[in-house]
Parts: sequence; C-alpha cells; structure tokens
Amino acid sequence: TQRRLMHTEKMAAVGQLAAGVGHEINNPLAYVTANLGFATEALSALPPDHLPPEVVLELREVSQVLDEAQDGARRVARIVRDLRTFAHDDKDEEKQVMEVRQVVEAALKFASNTLRYRARVTCDFQETARVEANEARLAQVFINLLVNAAQAIPEGHADENEIRVTTAMDEGGFVVVEVSDTGKGMGPEVLGHLFEPFFTTKPMGQGTGLGLSISRNIIEGLGGSLTVRSTPEKGSTFRVSLPPARQQPAESPPKPQASRAGRK
Ligand code: ADP
Ligand code: MG
Repeated sequence: TQRRLMHTEKMAAVGQLAAGVGHEINNPLAYVTANLGFATEALSALPPDHLPPEVVLELREVSQVLDEAQDGARRVARIVRDLRTFAHDDKDEEKQVMEVRQVVEAALKFASNTLRYRARVTCDFQETARVEANEARLAQVFINLLVNAAQAIPEGHADENEIRVTTAMDEGGFVVVEVSDTGKGMGPEVLGHLFEPFFTTKPMGQGTGLGLSISRNIIEGLGGSLTVRSTPEKGSTFRVSLPPARQQPAESPPKPQASRAGRK
C-alpha cells in the first residue's frame, strides 16, 4: 500500500542519514561531555567556606546549569546510539542458532529494575524451536518491548498491573513471543503510527520514537513479523513471530534444562 511504501522510503532515508550523522555527532559530543565533566568537577572542588555567600549562590546556579547541560548531552548520546543501531547493516552481522527463551530471559533480567516498579511480571515459556539471529540485537527487541510495556503503566500501581511474557510455537512452526501489559493501551491515532521512526507520545527526553521501528526492522530482517493489538485503558500485546532456524547447531546438543520458568 501507499502507506507501507512511504514507510519503507522513510526508513531508508533515516537509515542513510543516521549512518552519516551518527558518526559526525559522536566526536564533538564526547568533547562536550568531557568538558562538562571537567567544569563540574572544578566547581565542586572550590571550597565554599572561603567564598562570599553571593558567589556561592551564583556557583550553585552554575552547577545546576551544568547538570542540565549534561542531561541534554546524555539525551543526544542516546538518540545517536539509537540512530546508529538503526543504520547498522544487518548483512555483516554474526548470527547464532539460539533458544529464544534464553534471549527473553536475558532481556527480562536487563529490564528488571524498570519492570519491578510498574507491574508483576509473569512468564509462560512453552517449548519452542531455535531461531537464528544476532543475540544482542534480538535481546534489544525484547528489551524495547518490555520497557515500553513498563512505561505504559502508571507508577505506583505495580500490584494491580501485569506484564506477561510468553513463548510458544504457532501452527506454521514459527516461534512466537508475546509481551502483554495492562497499561494505558492505544487508540487508532497511535496504532496507525507507532512503527514509524521518531513517532513518540512520550515527553521530551523519555522516548526517541525509534524503539519500535528498530525492532520491526530487526525482526523483519530475520524473516519474521512484529505486530500489535491494543485496547485503550486495557492494555497492549506485542507479538514477535520468527521462523525456526534451518539447521541445528553442529556442536554439543542442548542440555536438558530444569524448568524454573513456568507460571510464576
Ligand atoms: P518511544 O518508546 O521512544 O516513544 P517506541 O517506538 O518504542 O518509541 O514507541 C512508539 C510509541 O508507541 C510510544 O511513544 C507509545 O505511544 C506507543 N507504545 C509503544 N508501546 C506501547 C505500549 N506497550 N502501550 C502503550 N503504548 C505503547
Ligand atoms: Mg520505546
């Protein structure tokens, strides 16, 4: 469709831009960050008891401004990092055959601090085929989905909310991972755009709007799909579907694992 085509073109344009700009920004940004750090340190090394009170006040303000500048620099760094991931060329990437469940567990562990304060996390890991992917990139997809799920739930209601992660196989032998939340859900105005690069409804500094477009890129690059269903005020479910790996790994057969996941 027209929209799909526009989306593809936009992705390609962003990818190209990102490859060039990401690198160009990183060096000056490192310089800015280093100097801000130096200024902050120099400031805190001044002995306040030997200075007139109005100067101390002034310095306090300067220190606050420096903090804000550092926040800004960190935000830029994050955008640059996301952009570079985005621009990354899938083809020269190392892939391994792996258990999806292990990648999901690593992502859960990585995001656990963020998740803990927003919801109960429950898992149901059914046996799945192995997939062939770059582990770090696949983990990034699940981390994106988990962090989004957490951010969709208001703070301070962890008892009433749930983030549920499941793995299973569909009839076609595809591996299916679902991340569901009982958060705020989405209406059509968000559902129509959420996979577009830079689309975000989050306040400045909280989201770059790149997470889902990067994630979809990664999953589609593996021959899979990333889809969503959602109801406003009820929650959302993101579904990752991946083709099974073509051949089993040559080395040692998988060790039998004690099932410590199951339903928690
Ligand atoms: P970001 O998280 O930086 O905003 P994403 O690409 O990850 O960018 O998500 C884009 C938008 O999709 C979010 O700003 C939000 O509006 C919506 N969204 C994503 N995941 C969820 C979710 N689990 N619940 C509700 N809205 C979501
Ligand atoms: Mg996100």
